[in-house]
Amino acid sequence: MRKPIIAGNWKMYKTLSQAVEFVQEVKTSIPESTKVDAVICAPALFLPSLVKEAEGSALEIGAQTMHFENEGAFTGEISPAQLEDLKVNYVILGHSERREYNNETDESVNKKVHAAFEHGMTPIICVGETLDDREKSHTMVKVSSQVGAALKGLTKDQVAKTVIAYEPIWAIGTGKTATSEDANTVCEGIRKTVADIAGEEAAEAVRIQYGGSVKPANIKELLSMEHIDGALVGGASLEPDSYLQLLEAG
Ligand code: PEP
Repeated sequence: MRKPIIAGNWKMYKTLSQAVEFVQEVKTSIPESTKVDAVICAPALFLPSLVKEAEGSALEIGAQTMHFENEGAFTGEISPAQLEDLKVNYVILGHSERREYNNETDESVNKKVHAAFEHGMTPIICVGETLDDREKSHTMVKVSSQVGAALKGLTKDQVAKTVIAYEPIWAIGTGKTATSEDANTVCEGIRKTVADIAGEEAAEAVRIQYGGSVKPANIKELLSMEHIDGALVGGASLEPDSYLQLLEAG
């Protein structure tokens, strides 16, 4: 049985005080018996405060990106060693916005995935097709190649611990969601790709999230699908009420 994981991606939203208030409110409302892993991936500036605030609760804090080197002359970057030191245990890698605006490539994502494991973090690896890819029926080719590149050189055990977020780019922040059947078909294809790379056992264990305009109104149906093990959520993770509803659906 794979434990669902609901991860919020706050992108570049909120001030520190708003972020701390969110965690204070949410951490006391997550029941101990919760059936999902609850994660918030916050702006880097907030991580020390939020990790401290969430300590001892069921809420875990993640980063939205990182460099693959531990230190060096990389102005403005955050290193895996720095995140480990803060006790951050998840990191989003290869989000389509980072691929588009910050030159994150399949190759650098793979280096970052290795670095995440070396520093005790779980990578949430984002993959997904553009509208153009989808219209040309290239979805699976694109997504499989991103998955293959990201997982290159990992042990089977590491692959099993990975979280993969399938996020069709045309559905992110647009209000358009893939149908649950379509999303499930792609997630099933991702699982087959993982099986080809690392064997059936790792493929059965790997958790595959769907992301793209997930909200309280559509999460239940998405999570009822066989190959969808959670969600990566932008807009609907920003308010405590809405985020808690997402967790309850899991
Ligand atoms: C995301 O940021 O990864 C995302 C899926 O955003 P939204 O839920 O707002 O579409």
